[in-house]
Parts: sequence; structure tokens; C-alpha cells
Amino acid sequence: MSDQLQVLNPATEEVIATIPAASAADVDTAVVRATRAQAEWAALAPADRARLLRRFAVAVDEHLEELARSEVREAGHTVGNARWEAGNVRDLLDYAAGGVERLTGRQIPVPGGLDVTILEPLGVVGVIAPWNFPMPIAAWGTAPALAAGNAVILKPAETTPLTALRLAELALEAGLPEGLFQVLPGHGPVAGNALVEHPGVAKIVFTGSTAVGKQVWAKGSTLLKRVTLELGGKSPNIVFADADLEAAARAAPMSFLDNAGQDCCARTRILVQRAVHDRFLDLLAPGIESVRVGDPADEQTQMGPLISKSQLERVRSYVDQDAPGIRGKAPEGPGFWFPPTVLTGVDPHARVAVEEVFGPVAVVLPFEDEADAVRLANATDYGLSGSIWTRDVGRALRVSQAVRAGNLSVNSHSSVRYWTPFGGFKQSGIGRELGPDALAAFTETKNVFISTEGPAQ
Ligand code: NAD
Repeated sequence: MSDQLQVLNPATEEVIATIPAASAADVDTAVVRATRAQAEWAALAPADRARLLRRFAVAVDEHLEELARSEVREAGHTVGNARWEAGNVRDLLDYAAGGVERLTGRQIPVPGGLDVTILEPLGVVGVIAPWNFPMPIAAWGTAPALAAGNAVILKPAETTPLTALRLAELALEAGLPEGLFQVLPGHGPVAGNALVEHPGVAKIVFTGSTAVGKQVWAKGSTLLKRVTLELGGKSPNIVFADADLEAAARAAPMSFLDNAGQDCCARTRILVQRAVHDRFLDLLAPGIESVRVGDPADEQTQMGPLISKSQLERVRSYVDQDAPGIRGKAPEGPGFWFPPTVLTGVDPHARVAVEEVFGPVAVVLPFEDEADAVRLANATDYGLSGSIWTRDVGRALRVSQAVRAGNLSVNSHSSVRYWTPFGGFKQSGIGRELGPDALAAFTETKNVFISTEGPAQ
């Protein structure tokens, strides 16, 4: 494995940076530094920790355009999305800063004394991030972990280390202690694995593929390490005949084309009640055909390239060029381009209907009634997100309860807000991130009983 990481612009295939890849020995050194910094950080007054995190948020805000442009170059994200992503980091830091002074334990009634719980930081937390949302996902783990009094070592994905490295510089400029938030770009099986196996790392926050997540879970368990897994998805978009079909069809394209479909919450299984199937496809087609795919730095662009050649080949392997469906346009020439694609007449058991493609590809599957919709929605190993389109409130609630997924939306496709919990059922993950309990997930609860009896005579 090379000791260098080459970062490409996926829209042009140009090399934009070559940086050293961290070794297992670098992880050892980082853990020593992080352990030292964590002790200093945890000893600070809560208000001081909160203030420093807010300063970090301000530094991110002041460099928002620079961070966004960097994400456009290394990840091919549209510039509008990239600005939102940098803003999301700022907001996560602010939200977590607000939790520092609210991270309270409990007082539990007991006879003969006082019983209190204390939420103590875990120590050093390893955050292993994927390439699809390099900045927000890095911050989902980092911001609450720091707020709860931990140090963080972040390993970004091989293809997208640049914004993470810049965030670490901004943290230092904002006044966070040296070594508290370190970024180690490197290969997953080397630097990522070293974090998972290191006894000095108390928790791993892993976001990535289900296959690697299972390895992280298995290895971490040998040290009884705390592990959070945010993994893949194959989310349904269920459209009932009584829905506002125009609205459902208008929203469907970007629900799986945003970030060129490289989104774990992408609604890639469009389940449509048979009575309105053909009408829905007629409404959907113009929306797919007119998506503006191209230079991600152009303000008008809605969809950029895939992240890499291997991702492009993977997506191609799922789509038969002659298969019936609706197709949009994509640029020719250099860059990892794939057009928006909706396949119809697909066998519900076909690979493209059950596996995560992680590209701009969805299938439309008809269903008969509510029970059939729920059965189809649950006919996948994943359980991350999903949407339900109906005007019937009772049905919306029944189906929300019946679909086995962590994040559902009714008459919308929203999944992720930093102040609401996020995570998967089944093989989409373990644990929850974000939301009001985010900080507590980076603590151990200690119970202390203080006797009020006098000393024994
Ligand atoms: P990946 O599993 O290949 O890599 C994710 C991260 O793990 C990278 O940083 C990689 O270097 C590291 N890694 C690889 N092998 C490792 C090992 N043996 N030990 C430790 N770390 C290792 O996934 P990817 O291709 O970068 O990301 C795409 C996947 O992430 C998709 O399946 C997607 O659904 C998933 N994802 C999930 C969520 C979520 O919140 N559920 C969010 C974004 C992406």
C-alpha cells in the first residue's frame, strides 16, 4: 500500500494534492498526544470548553467559502451543497457547545445517603469517515465528542482528506489545545485499523460500508471498545395513490440524485401504488431528464460526478444500458460521470433493487396495497431512511410504525438534522448520532453513592 495519498478532482481527473499516508506508528504517536490533550481539556471549566468550541465554529464560518470550494474540488460536490456542508460543521459545533454546560447526571433517591450519576468523558475517540460527506460526517462524531470532554483522532477517507486537514488547522487557530483534535489521513486497513485496534482509543465512530463496519465491530469487540456504526442504506420512497402525486414526483429526483446518489439515505427504491404507477412515471420523467449534471463549481449545477473511477465502474455494473427506464444527461470526456437513471420493470429481487448502488440510480417497483408496500419497504437488509407520501394521516402513522428504519419522513425527504437523532436499523448500523443525546453517547455513566450515616463507631 502506497505511503502517499493522491487526491483527484473527480470532475476533471486532475491530481490536486499528494499527501503522506499515516502509518500505524503515526496512530500510536497521535494517541499519546491526544491522551495528554484530553486530560487538559477535561479539566477546563465547562464554560471555557464551550467558548473554545464556539470560537472553532466562528473560524469555520469565516472560512466557509474556502472549505466549500475545497470540497467541490476534492469530492465533486456542487458548490451549493458544499456551502451547506461547511455551514453544517459550524452549526454542529455551536449546537455541541450549547451542550457542554447542560451535560448533567441525575440524583436518584436512595435510603441512607445520596446517589448521583456523573457523565465522564471516554478519553480518546477515533472517528473514521467516508468520502461521500467528508465534512458533515467528520463533524457528527467530532463536535459532540469534544463537547463531552474527549479528544478526537479523525481518519478521513483516502480520497477526501483535504477539508478535514483544514478543519484541524482551524481548530488550532481557534485555540483548541494542541493534540485535542488531530486528523490522520491514511489507508483504511492501515491507519483506520490501527485506531480500531489501539487500546488507548476508547470509542470508534465509524461511517462507511456495511462490510467494513462489520470488521470494525468485530475487532473493536475484542477490546470491548465502544463502537457506533453508520452504514449503508437502500431506502424506500413509498408513494400511495392518495398522495399529492405532483409534489411526490417533483421531490423524487433529488431524493436520490443529490450528491450523485452517493448518499446513504438516498431514496433509491421508489415504491408506487399500481393504480397510479404509470401516471407517476409520466410526472417523474421531465424531472429526471432535466437535472443539470456538470461542473460542480457552477452555481446552476444540480449534480456532479461520482467520486472515483472505481465507483463509476461499480455503478455501471448495476445498469444494463438497454434496460427500460428514464435517463438524464451527463457530460462526456474526463471526469467520473453517470447520468440520472430510473429503471422500470425491475425484478424486486434483482441486485439493483436490493443492493446499495451508491450512484444516481433508482428503481420503480409497483405495489398493490398498504400491506404490500410495507412488505416491499422492509424487503432489504438495510433500514436507514425512507419516505411516505400520502394524504391519509392514519396511514402515514401506521406505515411509519411498520417500516423498520431509523429515519422516516412523511410527504418530504428530509433525514438529517443535527438536532434530531440519526442512525440505522438492521444492517444500516448500531447506535445513534446527532440530536439531544449526542453528547451522552461520548460519556461513561458513573454512579456514586455518598453515605449520610456518620462514621462507624
Ligand atoms: P468504506 O467502508 O470503504 O470506508 C469508510 C472509511 O473506513 C474510510 O475512511 C476508509 O478508509 C475506512 N476503512 C476502510 N477499511 C478499513 C478497515 N479495515 N479498518 C478501519 N477503517 C477502514 O466506505 P466508503 O466507500 O468510504 O463510504 C461509502 C459507504 O458509507 C456507503 O456504503 C454508505 O452508505 C456509507 N455511509 C453511511 C452513512 C450513514 O450515516 N449511515 C453516511 C455516509 C456513508
